[in-house]
Order: sequence, then structure tokens, then C-alpha cells
Amino acid sequence: MALKQNLPLDPDPGHYVASLDEDDDLVYDAEFEKLVHQMLVRVGEDPTREGLKRTPLRVAKALDFLTSGYALSVEDVVSNALFHEDGKEMVVVRDIEFYSLCEHHMLPFFGHAHVGYLPNKKVIGLSKIARVVDVFARRLQVQERLTTQVADALMGALDAHGVAVVLEASHTCMMMRGVQKQKSSTITSAMRGSFESSTRTRAEFMSFIGR
Ligand SMILES: [Zn+2]
Repeated sequence: MALKQNLPLDPDPGHYVASLDEDDDLVYDAEFEKLVHQMLVRVGEDPTREGLKRTPLRVAKALDFLTSGYALSVEDVVSNALFHEDGKEMVVVRDIEFYSLCEHHMLPFFGHAHVGYLPNKKVIGLSKIARVVDVFARRLQVQERLTTQVADALMGALDAHGVAVVLEASHTCMMMRGVQKQKSSTITSAMRGSFESSTRTRAEFMSFIGR
């Protein structure tokens, strides 16, 4: 990855912040910004006009954020968040918002993840489940792989009796282009351990998530 100044990776504070009082020469990632500049020309824009002046920098920062999962591992996220616990009851976290980019068009797909697991002496901080989803969502993805990666990562980290992951997503590459189907959503699931082997366990999970 190209050399960068120590600018924060977080998205800009506001959509219309023009940063006029900021140093206009500020560079975040010269190479990346040059590519975005070329894209703007390619689509017929004038990259020197007021509203687009800082767009290459913003796009570079936004894409770095949206793909920041490559720099993260599940171990980073779950370390210090695993606790010993004897309970064996199913834990379900549903409606975890996620945003990802499809690897075919680099256009967003987004929706909700529902995650369940059956503990095996280990439980995980609930917010960490959402962070594990982000580790894989913030990469170029296909929904099927995102689903199985989250399931396998949690299965490995928790050494659980079972893990279930269901993702419901809308794909802007289908909504804005191609078949232009705005209302369709795609559902994928990955069942591991007892969620795979036991119809009853799977049905219990499905009823928890309202399916
Ligand atoms: Zn796509």
C-alpha cells in the first residue's frame, strides 16, 4: 500500500465539508488520488471544479475505510473478549447492520446479519460479533463468502457447539444497474455444528430471527 500521511481513516465529518480553510495541497495518498482524478476525467467530469477539488482525497479515504477489514484479523477483534461461562443456551444477535462492496462492481451491498451460536464453555462479548462481521464486510466480497467467513471465524474463535449466520442484503449493482430490481433482497446462510446437524436447533434459531 502506498505511503500515507497520518490522516485519520474515518470518513469525512460531513458530506458537504469542502475543507476550504484547510490546506488545499494536503495529500492523503498521491497515487490513489491520481487514479480517482483520472476516473473523474474518464466519466466526463472536470476535476478542477470547486465541488470536485477534494474528491480524489475523499474517495481514497472512503475506499480505505470501506476495505479496512483487510488490515484486521478476527484474533485482533476477539482477543480479550472471550469469557468462560458454563451456560449452554443459544445466543442470538440479530439485525446487525453491515455494509460491504461487491467484488464484481465495487458497488455497495448492505443489509443485516443474524448470528447465533451454542456456547461450549466460552462466550464472546456481544458487540464483538458485530465487529467480526465488519472485519469481513469491509473487504471486496460476495455475499456467500462473507456469510461463510463469519460463520467459520466464529466457529474457530469460540470453539462452539454450533454457529449459524444468516445475511439479508440488497445489492446496489442489481438495483442501480443491470437488471434494476430495486425490491429484491438476497438471503444467504451458513450453518455449522449443531445448527447443521439438528433441524430443531436450526428451527429455533430461525424463529428467533423471525424467519
Ligand atoms: Zn456486483
